[in-house]
Amino acid sequence: MNDTIAAIATGTAVTAIGIVRISGPEAIAAAEQVFSPADGKRLSAHADRKLVYGTLSGRSGAAIDICLATISRAPHSYTGEDTAELQCHGSPAVLREALDALFAAGARQALPGEFTRRAFLNGRMDLVQAEAVIDIIEAETAAGAENAVGQLGGALSRRIGAVYSSLLDLEAHFGAVLDYPDEDIEPFEAEECRIALSSAAEELRRILGTFERGRILREGVRAALIGRPNAGKSSLMNALLGYERAIVTNMPGTTRDTIEEKAVLGGVTVRLTDTAGLREAEGEAERLGVERARSAAEGAELVIAVFDGSAPLTEEDEETLAAARAAKRAIAVISKRDLPAALSAADLGGGFNAVVELSSRTLEGVDGLCAAIARLFPSPAAPAGEILTNARQAEAARRALGSVEAALDALTSGLTPDAVLTGAEDALSALGELTGRTVREDVVDRIFERYCVGK
Ligand code: GDP
Repeated sequence: MNDTIAAIATGTAVTAIGIVRISGPEAIAAAEQVFSPADGKRLSAHADRKLVYGTLSGRSGAAIDICLATISRAPHSYTGEDTAELQCHGSPAVLREALDALFAAGARQALPGEFTRRAFLNGRMDLVQAEAVIDIIEAETAAGAENAVGQLGGALSRRIGAVYSSLLDLEAHFGAVLDYPDEDIEPFEAEECRIALSSAAEELRRILGTFERGRILREGVRAALIGRPNAGKSSLMNALLGYERAIVTNMPGTTRDTIEEKAVLGGVTVRLTDTAGLREAEGEAERLGVERARSAAEGAELVIAVFDGSAPLTEEDEETLAAARAAKRAIAVISKRDLPAALSAADLGGGFNAVVELSSRTLEGVDGLCAAIARLFPSPAAPAGEILTNARQAEAARRALGSVEAALDALTSGLTPDAVLTGAEDALSALGELTGRTVREDVVDRIFERYCVGK
């Protein structure tokens, strides 16, 4: 890890400003080779974290930009190493040339996520915080960003850290008991342990309880648009997405696959699957249509059932109604409200979380659908930053909870202290994986592979 890495942090598009980052023992020396401050002093003679104005040179030494540079010396930097940043004009050619000159000065291309990986390995952040960095970058909603920033600030890490340290105390205590096997656990001590384990379990359950909403924050709500052919599903999907992604047609059979698109509706990221394309040859239609509507509805966290508002209910609509009623959450949409109405909310009967009337053509009523979605997926009760958003973290927290529960069982059923100790140790190791204290290197590799180059 002792080499010096460099990367363009701002992507390959033409932008107003482009940034090249460098980290490692030679970072400042390499930056000095390509950047000459206008005040005639060396870059390293300037204070940390101050912007310095000057000229950037390419590999041949010719000036390629007039820009800003800043340095941060170890350990007070993002990575914990010496770092430098060049803030150039955002021409991809300038940035590539600057990078190339840095390679000539001894740096090498940084791998995806390598800056953050170094920050983690140097103890500048734990794994929960490192994973929050990518969540901020990938946040699709303000709520998602708020939570990720809270996690980067350590909100979730502190909660998990508290559970970790109470289990560590317990382990130390039981370890001592085991060193003197003749000594039994005093009833008073056993009660203290039970309280500590119960509150650890309760806290882990509380953290895990935020995961469903956390997953939605990160990945979005899985929503299925169901309804008979020509009900208006694809048109609604297009209206929601604001552009023509699904093929809209009144001839069944042109779209073959399900179409999935993401949209932010009422502040909630929604992953919409349109089952409109799932039409089969005559005869097969009825059976498959019913099956598909049902399976789409079953797998979804939200079903948006579309009914043609310009026509009375048909037999196929009855199937849609049945599938929607079996779903976790369902909103009925009465479509085509710009046409003469032939269907009312009352015709649908009950069983929906909301009934919305709209026109995908005029967009009237689409707001109402967004508002209904926002009501169904309110902001979580946990403070931003304390919501579990990550499946890897949730899996580790679940294992920790299982081990704490096993320790509690061992204690209440009067098993020997070592059974309690084993449970506490397993929980500690699961929590250690969660925060990165004891995580395996291949797991770390897999986590940072997801990052972009330059982060
Ligand atoms: P799907 O088969 O459920 O996906 O239905 P489509 O979205 O393809 O719509 C079927 C037909 O209804 C098409 O001819 C659309 O143009 C028409 N349609 C859909 N929504 C509306 C609407 O809000 N108003 C009107 N006037 N026509 C609509």
